[in-house]
Amino acid sequence: MNWERLQEKLGILADAAKYDVSCSSSGSNRENTNKGLGDSSGMGICHTYTEDGRCVSLLKILLTNHCIYDCLYCVSRKSNDIKRAAFTVDEVVELTINFYRRNYIEGLFLSSGIFKNSDFTMERLVRVAKKLRTEHKFNGYIHLKTIPGASDELMQEAGLWADRLSVNIELPTKSGLALLAPDKKHEDFIKPMKTISNAIIENKSEKKIIKSTPQFTPAGQSSQMIIGATNETDLDIVKTSTFLYKNFNLKRVYYSGYVPVLKDNKLPDLGTPVPMVRENRLYQTDWLFRFYQFDPSEIVNETYPHLDLEIDPKLSWALRNRHLFPIDVNTADYHMILRIPGIGVKSAKKIVSARRFGKLGQEQLKKLGIAMNRAQYFITSKNYFNANDWDSLTLRNLIIQSGKSKYSNKFSTQLSLF
Ligand code: SF4
Repeated sequence: MNWERLQEKLGILADAAKYDVSCSSSGSNRENTNKGLGDSSGMGICHTYTEDGRCVSLLKILLTNHCIYDCLYCVSRKSNDIKRAAFTVDEVVELTINFYRRNYIEGLFLSSGIFKNSDFTMERLVRVAKKLRTEHKFNGYIHLKTIPGASDELMQEAGLWADRLSVNIELPTKSGLALLAPDKKHEDFIKPMKTISNAIIENKSEKKIIKSTPQFTPAGQSSQMIIGATNETDLDIVKTSTFLYKNFNLKRVYYSGYVPVLKDNKLPDLGTPVPMVRENRLYQTDWLFRFYQFDPSEIVNETYPHLDLEIDPKLSWALRNRHLFPIDVNTADYHMILRIPGIGVKSAKKIVSARRFGKLGQEQLKKLGIAMNRAQYFITSKNYFNANDWDSLTLRNLIIQSGKSKYSNKFSTQLSLF
């Protein structure tokens, strides 16, 4: 193997892959049962942090940046004058094993431009995963980005070797897709998502009957959409992600702020800031309807189609619903405690558990890790009587002022929530 050439390809194809954010994951339980390489069980993936704060890494590359399509938002589009490269199946396998042995990575995230056609490309992605699993007994994490338009058979096979499969929905609306990627159809994404979702359901029920049934994509499927490349509202985005979660049982929808690297009059101008704050607010909203029992329409709707960028969406909702507050944490349902700004899922559980042993006041709440700078205005306490006299706008400004560092335009990670 020519390592110099391989290194050159790696430079090109790792750089081209960096725009894809949908590579973090969890929930895989592929254990090392065959004395093979690696063990992805319980692991988060992709230069990201697991729930316990562990940083994990993976080899994130494209198989090729050649592409027959010309999606305007993509650096790999065929009309873009860039250096092109393609790995062979063996090269990707070799790199993965080599990097894994050196402890550089804990898994592989493999995506690709489309060369020749969808099946031709998808078949190669599948071969990489199959070779790693069968010939090298690789038990590390594998995330394959599927190719829209590939056959159901290839999707089915991919799920046998990969921990996670993803199909990028690309843009939040059909009109956005028609504008920026006219060669692609909404159905091109929906069909493979449906295939994968059905296969996951079937696999689960088969496993209940025959325990030895091989796992099918144990970490589930995810998707990603680019935000800010077209003029969609946050309501449009949330409607699309809700549709995906509901119909295809997705583990995650990733929101990727558009990075303007290409000039075209249908795209935001070069130099337009990447909408990082909006991206962060969308992740927070996503969390609210997946883990905080909110209905998406409570956060964004026809009256409020845009998220407030200055404050988190739960605080924004609470300020629009002052009549529901103050809440007495000593007596309220868990469901309502979850809705108090400054109280997360873990804290809400701690409150419900701790109040069995005595009445909780501000001191106890602080000890439980409640963010009192926000919560104090929404719970029954001596301060509330002041808060009750203020209108929502005044209260909003006060909270922003008192938490300047938190609400300034600095966002550490997508998951610094509530
Ligand atoms: S098909 Fe994928 S790789 Fe090809 S131009 Fe479109 S987004 Fe880029």
